[in-house]
Amino acid sequence: MTDATPLVEVVDLVKHFPVRGGLLSSLLRREQVVARAVDGVSFQIRRGRVFGLVGESGSGKSTTARLILRLIEPTAGKVLFDGVDMGTLSPNELRRLRSRMQIVFQDPMASLNPRMTIGDAIEHPARIHLPDLTPRQRRERVIEMLEAVQLTPGRQYYDKYPHQISGGQRQRVVIARALVTNPDLIVADEPVAMADVSVRALLLELMMDLKDRFDLTYLFITHDLATAKYVCDDAAIMYLGQVVERGPLREVFRDPTHPYTRALLGAVPVPDPRHRRTEPMPAGEIPSALFPPSGCRFHPRCPIAAAEVCPVLDPELRPVEGLPEHVAACHLRTGDYQHLDPERSG
Ligand code: SF4
Repeated sequence: MTDATPLVEVVDLVKHFPVRGGLLSSLLRREQVVARAVDGVSFQIRRGRVFGLVGESGSGKSTTARLILRLIEPTAGKVLFDGVDMGTLSPNELRRLRSRMQIVFQDPMASLNPRMTIGDAIEHPARIHLPDLTPRQRRERVIEMLEAVQLTPGRQYYDKYPHQISGGQRQRVVIARALVTNPDLIVADEPVAMADVSVRALLLELMMDLKDRFDLTYLFITHDLATAKYVCDDAAIMYLGQVVERGPLREVFRDPTHPYTRALLGAVPVPDPRHRRTEPMPAGEIPSALFPPSGCRFHPRCPIAAAEVCPVLDPELRPVEGLPEHVAACHLRTGDYQHLDPERSG
């Protein structure tokens, strides 16, 4: 594959979880009820970039990440990793490919076995994916990874247990474990959300240093656009299983187009609030993925929804004026109905 081939290409990815049993199924016996966790998501992650998946809880970000890692099977659509359709691989081929992609979860305590030393925890994936290393070489590699995440000297941490170190240090251990197989892609699922505010910036800085040092590509999942702004080159904003806006992050920040992106940006502190070009986050919860709203899924919460079109037609992602890489799915902001947008029509 050439350097121009995206490291990851997600094409029309769908994941519907059947809902079985309970009152809902008996009430709707004739129809199979499904939760539409991911519903037609497409994007590309270029090598060496940090791609952000941004949205509220329940938007489908983490399910999308698990589909990319093939931890769960898609209902439809495909994921190409380095140009190879992962759905066509045998279990052995998939296991080999897995060493090139690792995940860092939000809660390091839940990711580490409390009865396993830090050294053993980091060594475990090396035993599976780097079988040619001798025990001594594996130990040296673990110590090297501990020092890469600034737990120095590494041998002092090797025999400690997770409860003997701080939360920030535990997340560094999880990052070291992700690095040990020399991956190309790291999926970071809210990696600093549980860290103290004082260590968040340090962890993010560390992750960016490691990206350059180990030639990594990141899929960075966050609910927080301020964090995304700090680390991401590109971003897709997700709402209820769909991408509603996507593009280079600086363009999305400079010209947020979808009302949901604008609402998320409304929560990001800015030096001069008079220059905020956003809308407040509308009241109400994200609707259930069991029964997504008709038409545009954001219409029940959208402050500018037009009754004639928004509850009826599902908007497609279309280029934002003059910005070919920046797309948004909104009838009033990019589609045939721009004349209905109160902001555009003055
Ligand atoms: Fe709002 Fe309509 Fe645009 Fe959806 S399509 S975001 S409801 S204006």
